Amino acid sequence: MNKSKSIKNDSKYIWHPFTQHKISSLPIKIVSGKMTKLKDDKGNFYLDLISSWWVNVHGHSHPYIAKAIYKQSKKLEQVIFGGFTHDPAMDLASSITKILPVNLQKVFFSDNGSTAVEVALKIAYQYWFNKNKKKKTFIAFKNAYHGDTVGAMSLGSGSELFSVFKDLFFKIKFFDYPSTWYGDLNIKEKENIILNKIENELKKNNDIAALIIEPLIQGSGGMNICRNTFMQKLSRIVKKYNNLLIYDEVMTGFGRTGEMFACTKTKTKPDIICLSKGLTGGFLPLSLTITSNKIYNNFLGDNFDKAFAHGHSFTANPLGCAASIASLNLFKSKKIFKKIKNIEKQHKIFSKKLLKLKSIEKIRICGTILAFNMKGYGDGYKALIPKKIKKFFLENGLLLRPLGNVIYIMPPYCILKKELKYAYKIIYEGLNKI
Ligand SMILES: *Cc1c(COP(=O)(O)O)cnc(C)c1O
Repeated sequence: MNKSKSIKNDSKYIWHPFTQHKISSLPIKIVSGKMTKLKDDKGNFYLDLISSWWVNVHGHSHPYIAKAIYKQSKKLEQVIFGGFTHDPAMDLASSITKILPVNLQKVFFSDNGSTAVEVALKIAYQYWFNKNKKKKTFIAFKNAYHGDTVGAMSLGSGSELFSVFKDLFFKIKFFDYPSTWYGDLNIKEKENIILNKIENELKKNNDIAALIIEPLIQGSGGMNICRNTFMQKLSRIVKKYNNLLIYDEVMTGFGRTGEMFACTKTKTKPDIICLSKGLTGGFLPLSLTITSNKIYNNFLGDNFDKAFAHGHSFTANPLGCAASIASLNLFKSKKIFKKIKNIEKQHKIFSKKLLKLKSIEKIRICGTILAFNMKGYGDGYKALIPKKIKKFFLENGLLLRPLGNVIYIMPPYCILKKELKYAYKIIYEGLNKI
């Protein structure tokens, strides 16, 4: 089969995510990936600066993870998880709970970030239900993104992305996310206003089942960063009113914010946490929803009535678990956090240069993530930065995927200093060209 024919088969047979096929150009065919680099069918290389939708924390095709999957596949590839269990699941559950806040003790498996959130919502709802209380409203933040299933979309309905489906959504109370950036002078005031509003809501509204937040940074909503202190105060308020706090760490988990998790970085203890994306090191779809024993114990009873009636065909797939254990092992090396700190340091040096550019604003850094807004193109998903700048990045071998008017970098942690420097240089040139 020749190369051009294989790309035609893409348009003939495949429906891509988040794509308007009538106007989009043909996708790039990737044939291999190694560490930070992806190679296309024409022999071009791309520096994967977004870890391929934020999953490849250790870079592509890491041999240690590949080997762990292969080894597991020869032993046990899959088994029903109702009434059965296996070592990879137990090993992963015990390893992950050891590095999370001590209250998080029970691990529920599913397959992706959206289902991890869906599970968290259902657990929160049923937690109250099992206590003979009906609470149907969730608190979420404007511009939040929690996934594409209907429940997760409800939580994200503060943004314009899901307006088509709005009649299907359940009740959400939205609050502003206290985004901040270099040179932001009124952040404290912004935070206080938001915290007061949330506290009032929790005080007067008996229908709140839980509050869900992307801690420290909202991903798809535009890489909006908030401060540690906000997370701490928010957590205190939710606890004060005995409500449930859910952290969606699908993106922030596994080193992204500079430490293993946003909850460990902020020293806060959510009641439920959702993990996916970096969990398997980007090799396989798997996710975890982890709760406290306090919540879990509410699902116990002498018959099935209080049980959590939820499960997926591939719950706790052994290959996904093996990949996750291997990925966690890689995090045991001190070197990796040194690399993470170094990425942050490099971002900070580059940001000083960016501060001088008039075409951009709101420069911000959280761990390995650097982001800024391009001025003059509006806000949100529909703000389109010029195609020619995206083209310029690709032609120079950078894989970047701006969110509306927001340009960001979120590289695999194995990125070399010289690769980062090259990326900064091309981005700077690109910004100067328009
Ligand atoms: C990506 C993402 C999700 C959804 O995960 P999928 O695996 O794409 O379903 C949920 N929450 C956050 C914060 C995310 O970044």
